[in-house]
Amino acid sequence: MTASTIEDEDTQELRSFLNSWLIPNDTRTPTETLPALVEDPSAWHGAFAKVPLPDGRQVAGLLVLRDDLRADVAEGSSRRLDGWLEKCPLRVRVVDGELEFSGDGSPQACLLGLATRTVLEGRWKRLRSCPDCKWVFYDQSRNNSRTWCSMYAGSTGRACGSIAKVRRARGRQSA
Ligand SMILES: [Zn+2]
Repeated sequence: MTASTIEDEDTQELRSFLNSWLIPNDTRTPTETLPALVEDPSAWHGAFAKVPLPDGRQVAGLLVLRDDLRADVAEGSSRRLDGWLEKCPLRVRVVDGELEFSGDGSPQACLLGLATRTVLEGRWKRLRSCPDCKWVFYDQSRNNSRTWCSMYAGSTGRACGSIAKVRRARGRQSA
């Protein structure tokens, strides 16, 4: 399925959620951004086109969902996602010939819908967690074999590939 080498908006939105925990390039300190996003509706709607703004009581559950899905991605698994769907089933509808996943209208149901659609479109297996900075990226390589977030530092990556290359070279020199 070649279409899945291209990330779509749903998967991008899911990834924004997954990367609301991150290790920024400059500080390299694990940073939690989700609660602050919830406090700032304009920032939330800037980050998420589809996921409704959570209320304060929903945040703790979303943190657990996010960390579970991050763990699945890091392991190359989907069993925690499956566990969530068992606990919080979605309704499947067909709208204009397309499958639509809906739940109770909560942010959690919306995110589970985005994750389910990502699986359906063959994109879940292309989500990767960088072994160094833990950034969740979308692997667009033809053979789905990218390891590092990026070779170059920028808004979408942290140059962990280059850093690893330098480390390997230094290791060879000292050996
Ligand atoms: Zn990285």
